[in-house]
Amino acid sequence: MSDQEAAEWHVSPVHLGKRVDLADYDPDEKGGLRKSEAKMRLQANLRRMEELQELMYAEGKHALLIVLQAMDAGGKDSTIRHVMDGFNPQGCHVVGFGVPTEMELDHDFLWRVHPHAPPKGYVSIFNRSHYEDVLVVRVNELVPKKVWQARYDHINHFEKLLADSGVTILKFYLHISKDEQKVRFQERLARAEKNWKFNPSDLKTRAQWDDYMRAFEDVFARCNHPWAPWYVVPGNRKWYRNLVVSTAIIEAMEKMDMRYPPAAEGIEGIVIE
Ligand code: AMP
Ligand code: MG
Repeated sequence: MSDQEAAEWHVSPVHLGKRVDLADYDPDEKGGLRKSEAKMRLQANLRRMEELQELMYAEGKHALLIVLQAMDAGGKDSTIRHVMDGFNPQGCHVVGFGVPTEMELDHDFLWRVHPHAPPKGYVSIFNRSHYEDVLVVRVNELVPKKVWQARYDHINHFEKLLADSGVTILKFYLHISKDEQKVRFQERLARAEKNWKFNPSDLKTRAQWDDYMRAFEDVFARCNHPWAPWYVVPGNRKWYRNLVVSTAIIEAMEKMDMRYPPAAEGIEGIVIE
């Protein structure tokens, strides 16, 4: 298998309707690549992302929504730093979704999400998302089962609405192992400049690991569609993760089949004095 084929195989979205067993996905996967090769290819990908983003802005017909979900220390922040570096910040909006405020809880769960959908020409990156409402909310029974169960359909309809309005949606689950999370937590505890990232409540979430895996598997079974695919990204090796995410973004943006808008009338004759 060539490097190209290896990388492509691993960015395939989960197959529609297939039940995903996360135990079948190796978080250590590296697609037969070496770190040095992967880093070179990432640099090339970042340049390509910049070109495509500029084209998307110029054409003004498409928008891109990138959803990042993972367990704690799964690499969401780091992916934003490394991969989204390929985008011009002027056309890119990053939004994190934390514990809802009282006002947010007084509305439907998508109320706080919809205003952050990207306008035409722009990229929005969700660091956590509306999926928390069928993950943390489900695992901790923050609302009755009947309420979170209905949310898969609401999410599907919401994402279809965005897709029908010109938004390309890509959803990445950064898949780390429980052992890798332990290593990353230990680093957060050991290094003073990383202490702030450690939240004691993360230990409770870690203890619920298996429940979260089931909740993620249900998300993939119920909310994976051609217009809003999920990608299960091997997450233990950051350099491979970055390459996979950036490759998937490029593939999706190339499918947008974009063109620069035509020049203004009479532009050929203009002489700048
Ligand atoms: P962090 O990403 O470390 O800033 O943490 C954000 C926290 O907000 C995580 O513990 C999430 O599980 C939590 N969170 C995000 N969305 C929701 C939600 N809809 N309901 C409850 N907790 C949430
Ligand atoms: Mg956290």
